[in-house]
Amino acid sequence: MTQYAQDFYEIPEAIKENSELRKRVLELVANEPIPGKSIEGGNRIESLRNILSAFFEGEVSLQESIQRISEELPRHESQYAHNNRVFASGWDERLARTQISRFYNQAVLLTLKEHGEEECFIPPSEHEDRDSSCTIQLAGRKTDVDSLLARLNRAYNVGEWHDEVMIPDHPHCTHTVIPYE
Ligand SMILES: [Zn+2]
Repeated sequence: MTQYAQDFYEIPEAIKENSELRKRVLELVANEPIPGKSIEGGNRIESLRNILSAFFEGEVSLQESIQRISEELPRHESQYAHNNRVFASGWDERLARTQISRFYNQAVLLTLKEHGEEECFIPPSEHEDRDSSCTIQLAGRKTDVDSLLARLNRAYNVGEWHDEVMIPDHPHCTHTVIPYE
């Protein structure tokens, strides 16, 4: 039984089985800020929230989520359409992966905190780049819940980028947070 995902690719299975976590993820997806130029304007953020909810409800796969982002948040409708940095190749996949990881791990950290856990664990991920900061500094170790949550909030809620290592540390980060026992 997978109550918590050991890495990014186990998120759908974990969410399907862990109803407490699923409920929290869906609440966060519906309510938390999602900073980012590619989703500013029109109803782009609402469209993204709908796609992420569908992913966490188990209705669409990662690939389908990426496809829906490119169709429902088309580049040409953005006020930054001309900006090749905002819409660098693969922006749709990076957006899907980043927000899936962010919301999932945010929900895990909040759940652990609510359960009174001060420490958590980051399992090594075989899909992850061996040279990434999160592999070197976090994987295979326990770390404290409050620091990871504060770093995640600063980057993904406030939109203030910083270089303290966190989960997700980059758009293709496949690390996840699990309870430390
Ligand atoms: Zn990582």
